[in-house]
Amino acid sequence: MSSVVIVKCSGYDQDMVDKAVAEACELADMPDVSGKKILLKPNILSDSKEDRCITTHPQVLRAMIKVLRKGGAASILVGDSPGLQRPNFLPKASGIYQVCQQENVTWVDFTKNPTTHTIPYTRNKKLPLASVLEEVDMVFSLPKFKTHQLMYTTGAIKNLFGLVPNLNKSPCHVQFPTREQFASLMVGIASIVKPAFSLMDGIIGMEGPGPANGSPRQLGIILASTDALALDYTQAQIMGYDPVNVPVIAEGLRRNLGKKPTTFPALDPKDLILQDYKRIKVQEKTSFLQALIIPFIFSKQIQKKVKQQRKAPVFLSDPCIRCKKCIDICPASALTLGDKQVIIDTKACIRCYCCHEVCPASAILVDEVITS
Ligand code: SF4
Ligand code: SF4
Repeated sequence: MSSVVIVKCSGYDQDMVDKAVAEACELADMPDVSGKKILLKPNILSDSKEDRCITTHPQVLRAMIKVLRKGGAASILVGDSPGLQRPNFLPKASGIYQVCQQENVTWVDFTKNPTTHTIPYTRNKKLPLASVLEEVDMVFSLPKFKTHQLMYTTGAIKNLFGLVPNLNKSPCHVQFPTREQFASLMVGIASIVKPAFSLMDGIIGMEGPGPANGSPRQLGIILASTDALALDYTQAQIMGYDPVNVPVIAEGLRRNLGKKPTTFPALDPKDLILQDYKRIKVQEKTSFLQALIIPFIFSKQIQKKVKQQRKAPVFLSDPCIRCKKCIDICPASALTLGDKQVIIDTKACIRCYCCHEVCPASAILVDEVITS
């Protein structure tokens, strides 16, 4: 039986957030952290100003640190690794680093000496994960309530993908091109990390073309659970999805990563469903047999189907600031810098939308259907 706590919090005033986070942690039976070393994993993505609502809000991180301190945690660390992480990256734009300094907790660089792991459910895919995982007693996932162009939602499970350091992430889209395959990778990573607790910033979330180019949406809630899957299930429900249509949730249930939530000690998600929430339209699933059992035999058919289902991104000239971030992250080497705009080779493009995630200028359009 899994329970998810949803409490109200109408804004980011620190006192209000402190009270809501403390209440959520208590009602959700946060594990005993006394004497423990804890890693907090906020969603930083590409480190941007808090009003863009891409990152977990720094006040939520601060409130979580206060709860851990009160609970007697011996040591608190905070970390994440954006896809295009610069050397000595510190998340100052989002205010996350300033909170680490002010609260005297350690910011961890995930790129330093990562450890290679074999990821379950992925035909022995090997990936580096932050070595801090071996030092800490518990990992807490602190996601943001957001849509995701590729995976429909991003939550407590998907947030853990940030433990894969910097550019090691985007090539995974080549090997796991369908949503179902990519979900297996996310669930495999979560089964290694085993987050002890998850707390989601849903005070102002994101709708539309997330996780980086959607619009802020006032929701006024904080969600918490010891079961990351149950928390993601609840988020999807509030967004208006049938949660089992979200590939990470379907795969997580299939692999017993967590459970469908059955109890809600505070607010009930059925009373919070957002009928007008702008979400990504669910598309037909790739055949389980083709995608998961014999992918190499069917790789050409899978690629063809992915290209039929998903449109290639469109690059605009006016807003483009020629930063080349999209080119640097593209795992298919499908992009070049033209005279006026970025040029895409649509035949090479695998429709992973990593370019859209990192573009700081909203110069890339992804024509996935947004529904409400
Ligand atoms: S162009 Fe964009 S969507 Fe296409 S493969 Fe490159 S990063 Fe992915
Ligand atoms: S499209 Fe976006 S990411 Fe690519 S060069 Fe232009 S501004 Fe940078």
